[in-house]
Amino acid sequence: LDAIPFLRQQIRTVADWPEPGVQFRDITPLLANPRAFRVLIDQFVHRYFDARPDAIAGLDARGFIIGSVLAYELNVGFVPIRKQGKLPFTTVQETYELEYGSATVEMHTDAVKAGDRVLLIDDLIATGGTMMAGKRLLERLGATVIEGAAIVDLPELGGSAKLRAAGLKVFSLVDFD
Ligand code: 5GP
Repeated sequence: LDAIPFLRQQIRTVADWPEPGVQFRDITPLLANPRAFRVLIDQFVHRYFDARPDAIAGLDARGFIIGSVLAYELNVGFVPIRKQGKLPFTTVQETYELEYGSATVEMHTDAVKAGDRVLLIDDLIATGGTMMAGKRLLERLGATVIEGAAIVDLPELGGSAKLRAAGLKVFSLVDFD
């Protein structure tokens, strides 16, 4: 089995969603296929087994799905980075620009400790704005982000390059134009 082409095949492209001109890369078929889901998680387990982070921070909402399973497998804690308004305790927030308007994400102030080595994970990197906001939140809490990981990168949108230019190591399994 060649894992990467196999995983790529499980990702469905939906044209003109959520708006005309967008090709949405839908990972739900990958998650629904037990073999593919296992192959996916195993890729990340192998990559981070030795480097074992102190915690995994998953980005709302698809980053929770893969991040929590990976945290369980690596026997480390999972912390959510959520869209604004969902977390009950004190938070730190970051706001970033979208094509139309802006978005805010937040974390609990006690989610990580200063000096923690944290893996940041999401399903997909497009413009990189979401992952950049997650990196900033973690760094404001004194953590070190060891890598930003995603299933899919869309390199033509420049997000992964922007993240790397900002000093983040970026890892992804599948590229789409
Ligand atoms: P960015 O902030 O890098 O522009 O967008 C990435 C965020 O938007 C991620 O949280 C990701 O889940 C979501 N996203 C944007 N485009 C897509 C897409 O085509 N497929 C999926 N699965 N998520 C997307």
